Amino acid sequence: MAKRRKIYEGKAKILYEGPEPGTLIQYFKDDATAFNNEKRAVLDGKGVLNNRISEFVMMQLNAIGLPTHFLKRLNMREQLIREVEIIPLEVICRNVAAGSISKRLGIEEGTQLPRSIIEFCYKKDELGDPLVSEEHITAFNWATNQEIDDIIAMTLRINDFLTGLFAGVSIKLVDFKVEYGRLYEGDMVRTVLADEISPDSCRLWDMATGEKLDKDRFRRDLGGVTDAYAEVARRLGIIKEKSGAEILSFSGK
Ligand code: UDP
Repeated sequence: MAKRRKIYEGKAKILYEGPEPGTLIQYFKDDATAFNNEKRAVLDGKGVLNNRISEFVMMQLNAIGLPTHFLKRLNMREQLIREVEIIPLEVICRNVAAGSISKRLGIEEGTQLPRSIIEFCYKKDELGDPLVSEEHITAFNWATNQEIDDIIAMTLRINDFLTGLFAGVSIKLVDFKVEYGRLYEGDMVRTVLADEISPDSCRLWDMATGEKLDKDRFRRDLGGVTDAYAEVARRLGIIKEKSGAEILSFSGK
């Protein structure tokens, strides 16, 4: 196979040049990182599962008319996406207190929030992605007021949709992180959902037992990370197999 041009390599994904102008290939690695790269591991099969789960979620969102960068899955680890200019914000939506909001505001993990809360972090690894306000975002031109309005409306819509999707398979959507990009079409620019939605970027708790089915298993050394991701995929009807080991049998490794 001809060597493709690598556009960008992040912690869990690589972007390659796509087959046509305006497209890219997004490759899902097995690498896991946490605490701003201080903790690292390779989790066999994680990339395959995230590729499949993110494909499923993005397709569902496209189907309800929520614009995304996703075009199609190409193979076990790659998907074809539209090239966008990433808006340098991590947009977090929370339904239940966990992680950084619990620490920052002293709210016990698991506390239902009075309403869904959206937070913005500035995407800057060197600074550890600090929490910022809309004032910072517009003052420093990271996004316009119109883009912020679009981002908030889209994020709340994603939250409502995913909360229902996961509740249907007995999973509580505690929080999630999304990223958006600018899609240039002629002289028009549209805000679209980019990156991925997977157990790496969501907190997902089993509704019956409270068991964590997300990246906190890695962050908190709970073990069984890929098994938990496989369980999410199995419940959503994406795969039949239950164990992470079985995923490896078709992960192309
Ligand atoms: N998150 C993410 N990438 C980040 C930071 C957070 O995907 O760089 C996700 C995280 O998995 C969780 C949500 O965003 O679902 C809220 O994370 P939080 O701010 O609580 O941060 P953490 O406790 O992970 O440091």
